[in-house]
Amino acid sequence: MATPPPPKKILLAEDVRAISLKMSHALEQHGYTVSVAEDGEECLEKIESFQPDLLVLDLIMPKMNGLEVLRHLRAQQATQHMPVIVCTAKDYSTELKHIQATGPVDVLIKPFDPELLLEKLNQYFHKAGSATGITHRSHLPTPAVQYAPTLDTSRPHVKFWGTRGSIPVCGARYAQHGGNTTCFEYNTGKERIIFDAGSGLRDAGLSFLAGGPCHIHLFITHTHWDHIQGFPFFTPIYIPGFEITVYGERGFGKNIESLLCGQMDRDYFPIQREDLHAKINFVFLDDSPVKIGEVSVTREFTQHPGATVCFKVEHKGWTAAFVPDNEFLQGHTGSPLGLTRDHDIVVPYQPIVNFLDDVDLLVHEAQYLPTDYPKRIGWGHSNLAMACALVQMVRAKKWIVVHHDPDHDDPALHAKLNLTRQILKEINCGVEVVHAYDGMAEYA
Ligand SMILES: [Zn+2]
Ligand SMILES: [Zn+2]
Repeated sequence: MATPPPPKKILLAEDVRAISLKMSHALEQHGYTVSVAEDGEECLEKIESFQPDLLVLDLIMPKMNGLEVLRHLRAQQATQHMPVIVCTAKDYSTELKHIQATGPVDVLIKPFDPELLLEKLNQYFHKAGSATGITHRSHLPTPAVQYAPTLDTSRPHVKFWGTRGSIPVCGARYAQHGGNTTCFEYNTGKERIIFDAGSGLRDAGLSFLAGGPCHIHLFITHTHWDHIQGFPFFTPIYIPGFEITVYGERGFGKNIESLLCGQMDRDYFPIQREDLHAKINFVFLDDSPVKIGEVSVTREFTQHPGATVCFKVEHKGWTAAFVPDNEFLQGHTGSPLGLTRDHDIVVPYQPIVNFLDDVDLLVHEAQYLPTDYPKRIGWGHSNLAMACALVQMVRAKKWIVVHHDPDHDDPALHAKLNLTRQILKEINCGVEVVHAYDGMAEYA
C-alpha cells in the first residue's frame, strides 16, 4: 500500500486574528498543516523555521508589510520561487501585476470565503502548475459579457498634427505640447482634409500610408514658413496612386504650386518637383464653398501680413473653424471688457466675426500675452485678451488654442491657459477652452 504524501504546510501571514482563525480552521479540516504569523517579521522567521510549501500573505501587516516581505523572499535564493497567494482588501491590480512578474504569485481580493482559498490551494497542489491571476471578491457575479468599448475612429474628428507657430521647437521643455508647426486635420472617417503644411504634415502623411493610396485635400491659409515647410516631407506626394489637391488663395503672390514646390529647388532640397509621383492638383480658392463629399469648406481673410485666410468646415450641421494666424483688433491694448460687435474698433473686423458666428469648434490662436503684445503690434498675431473677446463675440461653443509661440514652453503655456480662463471669467464668457498639442484628437 502506498503511503499518502505528507500534508502540505501553509503559512498564513495575517494580523487579524478572527480571519487567521477562520482560515486555519478551514485549511486544517482539509488536511493542511497551518502556522500563523501576525506580522511581517514573524512571517520571515516562520518561513525559515516552519518551511511552508506555500505562503498566504496579507499585504497590510505591522512591522513589515506584505510587499516588503515579498521583495525579501524574491531576493533570497531559497525562497525566490516560493508560491505565494497575496490577500488584499484593495484592488491594487497594477501593483500586483508587477509583483506577479517576479515569481509565482496569486491574488485574492478580500473579503473572500475560505472555500475560495481552498480552491486556489487545490489548484496549486493538485492541478498542473499554479493558477496565477487575480481572483476578485467571491460575492461579485462574473459578468457573462465583457463590456469592452473601443474608440470608433471612423467617426468625424479633428486632429492636431502641429500646434506651434513660427518655427519648430524640440526638447524636454516642450514635451507636452510638442514642437511641430501648423497642421490640422478634419477627418470625416472617409474624407481626409488637411489645413496647412507646417512640419506636423510629415506625421500626418505617415498616418495616411497605412490605409493605402487615397485622395487628400490640403488647404493652405498662407505661405509663411510655418505653414508650408512640411510639404517636401509629406510622404504621399512621392507615392503613385495618391492624389493630393492643394487649395490656395490667388493673392499669395506667386502661385501656390511654385510657392510649395519652390522649397524643393536644388539649392534647398535634394528631391525635385519631377520626382513627385502622386497626382497633385493645385486649385485657386474663390468665394464659392469647396465641396468634399458631405463636407463644405469656406474661407475668410484674416488680419495677418500678406494674403492670409482662415477656413470653416461644415459637416452634418456641425461647424469647425481653423484660424491659426489672425491679429484681431490690431493695435488694441485695452481691456476686452465691453467690446461688442458694433464697437468702433470692432466694426472693421465684422467679416471675420460674422464668418465665425456660432461656430461649434473654434481653433484660433492667441499667441501673445497682453503684456508682450505692445512690442509685437502688426506681427499678425492676437493679443490673448483680444482673442478672448473674439471668442465671446462669436459665441463659440469650444475654443482650442493653437499656434503656440516658440518662446512658450510647457510651464509657460500652463500659466497662459490659466490666464486665459481668468480673462474669460472676467468678461463673463463660459466657453470651454483648452490648448492643442501635437497628436491631439477630438471627436465631434
Ligand atoms: Zn503662422
Ligand atoms: Zn504667418
